[in-house]
Amino acid sequence: MLQHLAGSRYFRLQSSTMSTQIYQSVLSRNFIATLFLFAITLFSISGCSEIDTDRTRESAVFDGEYPIAVTATVGMVADIVKRVGKQHVTVTQLMGAGVDPHLYNAPRDDVLRIMESDVTFYSGLKLEGKMADTLVKLANQKPVVPVTEQIDRSQLLEPESMHGHYDPHVWMDVQAWAKCVDVIASTLSQFDPQHSDDYRANADAYLKQLEELHAYGLKAIGSIPPQSRVLITSHDAFNYFGRAYGLEVLGVQGLSTESEAGLQRINELVNMIVERKIKAVFVESSVSPKNIRALIEGAAAQDYEVKIGGELFSDAMGIDGTYEGTYVGMLDHNITLVARELGGVAPPDGFLGNLAHAESRSIEKESP
Ligand SMILES: [Zn+2]
Repeated sequence: MLQHLAGSRYFRLQSSTMSTQIYQSVLSRNFIATLFLFAITLFSISGCSEIDTDRTRESAVFDGEYPIAVTATVGMVADIVKRVGKQHVTVTQLMGAGVDPHLYNAPRDDVLRIMESDVTFYSGLKLEGKMADTLVKLANQKPVVPVTEQIDRSQLLEPESMHGHYDPHVWMDVQAWAKCVDVIASTLSQFDPQHSDDYRANADAYLKQLEELHAYGLKAIGSIPPQSRVLITSHDAFNYFGRAYGLEVLGVQGLSTESEAGLQRINELVNMIVERKIKAVFVESSVSPKNIRALIEGAAAQDYEVKIGGELFSDAMGIDGTYEGTYVGMLDHNITLVARELGGVAPPDGFLGNLAHAESRSIEKESP
């Protein structure tokens, strides 16, 4: 019965009119959240996929209460919102340092947080694998915006292993990720036109810094001897990084951390490391280093010593409150460490002199 009702056009229209009326009434926020949860459950049951996110975004009404409550899924997105929104926003980040977004299962509280926020941003391109459907459904009710939506599709990688989906790890190419800054600035401006000049000015200042970071990446990675420009990591999070800065990138696991690495893949990589005398392989902050250790042991069995070059940030940033816990710090760390460990030239404290941990991290990781 419920399924039948939820699946009908009539019911969907009624439910949207009903929620608008309640919005305008004096009923409590909790009740609204519960009602939305109920509506989402119905949408899930019916498998409804009719979405008009643009209309939802335009019709969202600012209630006049500052700061604007923003929710973001991953740190890379939350960080842009903080840079662009500054004092006008508070940002709740759902996935913290070291959390793997591919495997993240959203608790019920996350849906409530999104429902209680004014605006929600997520990365998109199915990065938030298990949460993606929920986010798309919530976009019917609230401004819930994928920040990668304006990146030209021709700029996206579509590896065979993704079976027709795009590679979601776009933040690894600073120039491509910079497009997300405009999406956030324009969404905030639409929601809060009174401060649109601030959002634009903050976005422009941030974009300038990203441009400098990108130029630093080109220079630092470009200083690695050509035969050594090979980046071996746990999973395929670095394809955009390789394309942007000129590295051949090989992951032990596939694009999602869900797949297991095969013995054959490990053997192939070991042979390549030995043949090309690759100096270092890298572990990732959000993925188990088990497979990378298998590479080191495999090379040792062929009397070749390859070291762990350190820990790269792949799908999550460093600890909140540190430089590595910002998007610029995350990329600075990755660029600087890869350049130095593969034989290139880069200052040990990075692009702005702010990196503290790149070297000590790599030493820590070398002892078993
Ligand atoms: Zn990933």
